[in-house]
Amino acid sequence: MRMSKALIPTLRDNPAEADTVSQQLLVRAGFIRKSAAGLYHYLPLGKRVLQKIETIVREEMDAFGCQELLMPIVQPAELWLETGRWNAYGAEMFKVTDRHERQFCLGPTHEEMITDLVRNEVNSYRQLPLRLYQIQNKYRDEKRPRFGLIRGREFVMKDMYSFDRDPEGLDQCYWDMYQAYTNIFNRCGLKFRPIEADGGAIGDSQTHEFTALADIGENTVVYCEHCGYAANIEIAPCPVPEAQSSVETALPMEKVYTPDSKTIEAVGNYLQVPAQKCIKTLFFQADDELICVLARGDHEVNDVKVQRVHPCLALELAEEEDVVKKVGCNFGSLGPVGLQGIKIYADLAVEQMVNLVCGANEEAYHYINVNPGRDFQVEGYYDLRMMQEGEACPKCGQKLDSARGIEVGQIFKLGTKYSETLGATYLDENGKTQVIHMGCYGVGVSRTMAATVEQNHDENGMIWPKSIAPYHVVVVPISAKDEKQMAIAEQIYTDLQKRGVEVMLDDRNERPGVKFKDADLIGYPLRITVGKKAVEEKIVEYKLRTAAENEIVAVDEVVEKAVSYIFSE
Ligand code: ATP
Ligand code: MG
Repeated sequence: MRMSKALIPTLRDNPAEADTVSQQLLVRAGFIRKSAAGLYHYLPLGKRVLQKIETIVREEMDAFGCQELLMPIVQPAELWLETGRWNAYGAEMFKVTDRHERQFCLGPTHEEMITDLVRNEVNSYRQLPLRLYQIQNKYRDEKRPRFGLIRGREFVMKDMYSFDRDPEGLDQCYWDMYQAYTNIFNRCGLKFRPIEADGGAIGDSQTHEFTALADIGENTVVYCEHCGYAANIEIAPCPVPEAQSSVETALPMEKVYTPDSKTIEAVGNYLQVPAQKCIKTLFFQADDELICVLARGDHEVNDVKVQRVHPCLALELAEEEDVVKKVGCNFGSLGPVGLQGIKIYADLAVEQMVNLVCGANEEAYHYINVNPGRDFQVEGYYDLRMMQEGEACPKCGQKLDSARGIEVGQIFKLGTKYSETLGATYLDENGKTQVIHMGCYGVGVSRTMAATVEQNHDENGMIWPKSIAPYHVVVVPISAKDEKQMAIAEQIYTDLQKRGVEVMLDDRNERPGVKFKDADLIGYPLRITVGKKAVEEKIVEYKLRTAAENEIVAVDEVVEKAVSYIFSE
């Protein structure tokens, strides 16, 4: 490709609204343009990167026996009504109505569609197992589209669905995909960790998230350098604290006046007790029900764990006015003592507390010397809090570290959740009807592109791994007007192309400084600069994007050197 003919609208400055490095650089280097919140154009360079990631994904899927197909993006509401997800999916679903008033959605995911297809086309054990995937735009009306391609409302996903006769077959596929995903993200040049994650409302379903490490990541990963344990903080089981009752005797409960003490910190200061002695009382709206969750004052409540013990479709912190209506007291003085008609769940640490402080459900009053079991009852004590860095690894007991990460892929055992509801069955060897065992496996293709940039850039621009760079090499003649220089540059350009290298020739009539800046910003792995010395001394400059310095290479050796660099591992 010739730069003079290409649509690569680079910008000198970062776009004002870009909130992450990847978004800034991808926009500035002319890879993407925003159309509306969470909706992007992929310009030619961006499209090339996307396509390279797709090719890697395809190769790895095909290597593990998966077959590519393509399903409609527009999906009939009836299918989603059958699984109960039409309403459960919530506001994230883009819904559309056709001219006959029939309802559809723009596919946020395709479990319903593929299960419907398979229930119609598969009926014998001889047709199983099946591994079917597609690479396609997905639509989710995200509450907060942000970070450019990382959280879009239209984005490219590879989604694979597996169909097996039994749990053993599913398990085999799951670990095949674990390997395939490891290969994919390694080949994309990402630093990532596969982490244990939340199986959602399906119970103890097995799942791993593939998480690219990056400070802007929305997920927190806790990991153990000692034994290799790694999990999303949402599911990491917290160590159970030791009982305090052996060292402290329970005292009689008392109500005390606590003016202007609406936070754990303020109450603690006022009563001169540490946060570990206070109870945090939170109210959640769990679908239509108000529930109460208790944690130790210095701990954070983990809503994923709450949702596991109190299964519901939507769980959110309750609005203050709803709590006032039910309990008769504002936030700041709430507590479990005397609470009627509300389910109370408490963290395991609360069970061990003695003589604690909690709100009295009366403005500006707290109780002291409250003792769980004696002064209030709960539905049960569960692990309901967030793991903290430095706590003990649940596998080996060593200290855990934590890091931020971006989920770029997820593998998930669905079991019979969809096949049972939608009736995807087969006849076994004995002619008996059996339910198909399913798994689903997603790669965020466009998100992977952005995550790669988050990890691979410097102050001058992006640094593409060779495997997914839009072009491998840029050839930069210092003066496009100098015919002799141009002739040498053209020769290198065509020779590289003949050898299968993807090359950009910067034949623009621009100053060298502008061309170098653009080359660094775009992040080609290799730049070959053809100047005066190419004509006079038959030498060119050879610069890797990752290297600080140029190398000097003979004109008639540069193609060979470039080819062996580009196609080396
Ligand atoms: P998240 O928790 O980040 O919202 P998810 O768990 O809902 O993601 P999945 O349903 O597992 O996403 O989708 C498979 C993959 O698609 C994810 O691992 C992620 O890489 C990608 N993905 C999901 N939502 C988006 C989005 N809004 N924009 C870009 N990529 C996305
Ligand atoms: Mg996911």
